[in-house]
Amino acid sequence: MQKIALIYLLLAALLFSCTDNQNQHNSGKLKAITTILPFKEFINMVGADLVETEVLIPPGADAHTYEPSPLKIKQLITSDIYFKVGAGFNFENNLLDDIDIVNGEIKITDCSEGIKIIDNNPHIWLSPREVKIILNNIYNSLAAILPEHKSFFGKNLERSIGKVDSIDSIIKGMFYSKSNRHFIVYHDAWKYFAEQYGLNVIVVEKDAKEPDLNRMSQVLNEARRYGLTTLFIDRQVSKEASIAIADELDAKIEMIEPLPDDFIANMIDVATKLSASMD
Ligand SMILES: [Zn+2]
Repeated sequence: MQKIALIYLLLAALLFSCTDNQNQHNSGKLKAITTILPFKEFINMVGADLVETEVLIPPGADAHTYEPSPLKIKQLITSDIYFKVGAGFNFENNLLDDIDIVNGEIKITDCSEGIKIIDNNPHIWLSPREVKIILNNIYNSLAAILPEHKSFFGKNLERSIGKVDSIDSIIKGMFYSKSNRHFIVYHDAWKYFAEQYGLNVIVVEKDAKEPDLNRMSQVLNEARRYGLTTLFIDRQVSKEASIAIADELDAKIEMIEPLPDDFIANMIDVATKLSASMD
């Protein structure tokens, strides 16, 4: 995102908010905003009905190239707290660099604090182990801002960690006996998941771009070596390139979701599809 464009948007939104006399804080709840949909669920898990959360990047938009609309910027400048994904998400770094121009009061929580970042890859929300750290970071932040509700947040955290632990055991069981532990994905979103469960992920795209011929042949060779017969994609990837790769490998195409609105159900769905492809 161009910095100059962002400053323009911030100023436009500031003018917009000055002429708007609706009270943003009339719900009495803490107003939070976060970058992508999965984090709204994590904030809800801990904050429950004491926190109202907006999502900056709408579902379906490409999180790697998105530019916020004036409405979204307005929500940003009327929020009490920003939960950023962190992990070197460029979009956020550019945005939050300038946030104090329009909202000097906003608190910023880096949800990736304490997570070991792999190759500057932001997709930390797709692995149960990392999600537990994210939930803890959200808890610490909410307990500091609303200390009178610390035990409420603590109970919610404990219950959420319990749920994440239970899907973690289910997923471990799915991969336990697999000898071919390789899978191929188009979008580079599954490194943390692969790392947690001892799997090898082959990634088609490089730096969020379509592969060149060199990369294509390298990826195809690797996939053939392991006898992979399923290419995993998501809605945002290039259709032509995925079909071309699947044709070359004589593989079928399966969708897995990197921006879920239901973390638990999605992790089970993804793990079921990946483990079935390893039979
Ligand atoms: Zn992504």
